[in-house]
Amino acid sequence: MENLHKFLVANKVKNILAVFAHPDDESFVSGGLFQELQKLNIQANLICLTKGGRGLNPHRRGNLKEIRTGELEKAVKILGIDNCQLWDFPDADLKSTKDKWLTVLKNEVEKIKPDLILTFDPSGITGHPDHIVSCIETLDAVKKLKNPPIVIWRVPDEQEKLYFKNNKALMFACVPNLVLNYGLTESLNKIKAIFSHASQMKSLRFKLQILEWFLFDHKEFYYKVNLNQKYKYKFVYYRIDKDS
Ligand SMILES: [Zn+2]
Repeated sequence: MENLHKFLVANKVKNILAVFAHPDDESFVSGGLFQELQKLNIQANLICLTKGGRGLNPHRRGNLKEIRTGELEKAVKILGIDNCQLWDFPDADLKSTKDKWLTVLKNEVEKIKPDLILTFDPSGITGHPDHIVSCIETLDAVKKLKNPPIVIWRVPDEQEKLYFKNNKALMFACVPNLVLNYGLTESLNKIKAIFSHASQMKSLRFKLQILEWFLFDHKEFYYKVNLNQKYKYKFVYYRIDKDS
């Protein structure tokens, strides 16, 4: 498996665009990678397609979209993301509205001209349809570009596979070919970024679970996409109100 740090340096990556669906995806999925980009002086752009209005709002207080906007701002600072665009396409409905957000996304890709695009792999890790559609449609759009950037997908690790074992799309998870290793400092910072999404921390038990996952495990696995290959995927049953 190739070292992601070396891969970024060898490919002279200077400008990355991450495409995620919900505020908190960036921290859970690539909290380690964003910190690595900052160290390598690689410009990190994040597009978050929805404000996560269908997410958890345990206290039923205030406007969830506003709350989550503030939480994302905090995480962006912690992770050192240079540019963050928080869009407001319908949470849990990116599949049926793909034509709308894809047009805007394509324009933005033309403007940012990233040399690498990062998103979920076809398992969506959790199986959330917004994650899967982000993966598939972003890849499709990239393939149509004259000079397509490198595409990498974040692949579920063994812990995630266990936790999201009911995700039937896990059968489409890619076998990682890139690994990012980082230290305890970065892990603590990643946890801090995840915890800044306070509205999504459903219980103390869940917070402890996050500590257990990330405190001792300082790795993120990725997959470099072959743009000439066809990848299988499937939208699977997913309870939207459970985890977003
Ligand atoms: Zn998500």
